[in-house]
Amino acid sequence: MVQTAATLATVEGTLARLLTALFVGGAALTVIAALGGYALAARALQPIDQMTRTARRISAEDLSARLDLPATDDEVGRLAVTFDEMLGRLDESFRRERQFTANASHELRTPLAAMQVILGVVRAQPRTTPEYEAAIDDLADEAERLQTLVDRLLYLARRDAQRSDLRKPVDLTFLLADIVDSLEPLAAQKGIALTLRTPARLMIQGDSDSLARLFVNLLDNAIKYTQQGGVSVSAAAHTDGATVTVSDSGVGIAAEHLPHLFDRFYRVDAARTTRGAGLGLAIAHDIAQAHGGDIAVSSQIGQGATFTVHLLS
Ligand code: ATP
Ligand code: MG
Repeated sequence: MVQTAATLATVEGTLARLLTALFVGGAALTVIAALGGYALAARALQPIDQMTRTARRISAEDLSARLDLPATDDEVGRLAVTFDEMLGRLDESFRRERQFTANASHELRTPLAAMQVILGVVRAQPRTTPEYEAAIDDLADEAERLQTLVDRLLYLARRDAQRSDLRKPVDLTFLLADIVDSLEPLAAQKGIALTLRTPARLMIQGDSDSLARLFVNLLDNAIKYTQQGGVSVSAAAHTDGATVTVSDSGVGIAAEHLPHLFDRFYRVDAARTTRGAGLGLAIAHDIAQAHGGDIAVSSQIGQGATFTVHLLS
């Protein structure tokens, strides 16, 4: 029997050191991982923090704040870009809303001020019966003007909120004949010839009340801005719908005004010798677009104007 013995001290020493190293290293690693994780998460979430701060700064009065983060193609970067785009759209729509309200108030003030002037003049001293009658006529005119304006403003405000059913069969020939009939006296009063050329039947899809409003606005302008000559309306079937043109031999429109003609409250006649709020064409344009159609204008100063409406069947 052979017995050998060796000391385990070195092995145990190594194991003990290993254990210590594992403990210390493990603890240090945990701390480093925690700190690193925290730092990384903080960095990744920093844009979100910035979004929170920006969102807190935004109010309906001031929508100009933007994140403007450097573009990165990750989830947060895309969220930031979407957030900025949304702010841009909101800003634009609030701006338009404010502009609309400002313009509307301005337009409403004019007839009201005129009414106050008429009343002030009448009440300043006792008047004769014909004077009272004249004043009442003037007041009635202003009231009518207010009525039209309020109607148009309400129409625009409602149309933004709700869309009516735009897919009912409408016979354009019948509709146009009806409108031309009702505006005939207005044209006759100014000595303007009103002619209508349509096929026997011209069916499209739409809402007849809105379409009537569209053509009344165009014809109203054609008659209003024509001093002599005529206004002609013609309609024809098109490959995918119908085309209606309203042309007049009136004052015409200078080229620089054409791009803005369909803007709300836009008027060429800055001196305001003719009455109007500049809403007729904006409404006509809205209606044409709501029908998936379009409306275009061609004109030269002194050469009359032609408005062409495309509608889908
Ligand atoms: P509203 O229709 O609200 O009573 P308006 O007629 O002035 O007022 P729009 O119908 O929107 O407003 O027309 C805008 C502007 O375009 C008018 O002020 C006018 O200067 C010009 N315009 C429109 N139609 C014609 C036309 N047929 N001939 C010449 N100018 C026109
Ligand atoms: Mg008009």
